[in-house]
Amino acid sequence: MQAEIISNGDELTSGKILDTNSQWLSIQLADIGITTLYHTTVGDDLEAMIGVLRTAVERTDLILWTGGLGPTADDLTRQAIAEGVGVPLEKNADSMRLIQEMFRRHGHKMPKTNEIQAFQPRGALPIHNPHGTAPGIDFTVQRQKPFKNGRLDFFRILAYPGVPAEMKEMWYDSGQKSIQEMLDQLTGQKRVLRFRTIHSFGLGESQVEAMLPDIINRKHDPKVGITANQATITLRIASEAVTEEECFKKIEPTATLIYQTLGDLIFGEGEDRLQEVVCRKLTVLGKTLAVIEAGTRGLLAEAIAGSKELPDCFAGGIVLPPKQPIDTDEMIRRGRRLFNVDYLLLIGAYPPGQPDRNRTEETLVAVVDARQTDLQKSVLVLQNYPYVGHPNIIDDLYVKRALNLLRKIISKNP
Ligand code: ATP
Ligand code: MG
Repeated sequence: MQAEIISNGDELTSGKILDTNSQWLSIQLADIGITTLYHTTVGDDLEAMIGVLRTAVERTDLILWTGGLGPTADDLTRQAIAEGVGVPLEKNADSMRLIQEMFRRHGHKMPKTNEIQAFQPRGALPIHNPHGTAPGIDFTVQRQKPFKNGRLDFFRILAYPGVPAEMKEMWYDSGQKSIQEMLDQLTGQKRVLRFRTIHSFGLGESQVEAMLPDIINRKHDPKVGITANQATITLRIASEAVTEEECFKKIEPTATLIYQTLGDLIFGEGEDRLQEVVCRKLTVLGKTLAVIEAGTRGLLAEAIAGSKELPDCFAGGIVLPPKQPIDTDEMIRRGRRLFNVDYLLLIGAYPPGQPDRNRTEETLVAVVDARQTDLQKSVLVLQNYPYVGHPNIIDDLYVKRALNLLRKIISKNP
């Protein structure tokens, strides 16, 4: 089964906001084994909306729609779907009740305009929206002239609100499950897809691939994919089976093999980024951290402060301009003076004791034991990296290198 995703709104077509809903939904669909064939974006124009819907049902069997379910005059999705399919809009008593209930909980009387949100194309089912007023639309339509060539004799439209948080919540609440069930019904077998993603840092994609035995080939079961994102190399193991337990059981030996092969290059799994891993470990150890960075525009401090693990271990940072003539010793002294922490993480400047004002082609990254009073002995690790590449990419790379050096040092701690 192939899908089309339609995002709707003048804000999107005018360039005011970026369509992130389609990207997110495509990833969700891929996770349950559905390929997205088209992304279509359409403004708030009824004729145009009807047109894209009709085109979509001609070329795919599953249409995910976001936006235009609000109560205002420019919210035309209900109408477009009804007219596109050729059925009238009808007031849905359940939806009406849910919308009224939502307003009551907020202590407001429902404005007359919101009544429109209880309307659904005839034959469609409302999708419960736990945190918004607009219910979604789940509409399965029998085709009059069934297609050949593996196409289905029905099409299904799922319409969600445009607000990303509401859309995602509704997807997790019901969408994912109901599409999965539809697929099970079509194939006559129940199947579950589960994934495990393992992240590594330190080597390039082709180097990582070369290290691994022949698991990244199409025939390998479970399937293993490799992707590179800003120098993080991720291995994604995908397994299909009848139960979740079976999926994970199938994944296990492949994951073990990857861990054995890549060892210390692996820093985490799933949602983990280096800053989450570092903050988690520091918290466990009861250790604290401050950063001093020259030339990376505060990106290191930002990364740590933005860690999804509570960054309580993070005391703060000093952000210096790129070509500040300051040597490492001076950076350490400043860090010590300002922060009472266990570790200082440094980016930029020059190696200890040898300030070289002309040296701009190399950037240094160092981890410092801030409790060690002997300046020379306090530097636990120091690396020089050539400054090559676009600033937007290379600065991020330095941040990751710094976090990774610290990760390696603290992971040796029991
Ligand atoms: P509402 O009841 O809030 O009006 P709605 O279903 O009518 O919901 P829209 O008015 O289309 O949704 O969009 C509401 C907001 O959601 C937009 O202002 C925008 O911030 C965000 N949004 C809409 N579509 C997208 C999209 N495709 N990608 C990212 N954000 C979006
Ligand atoms: Mg709206």
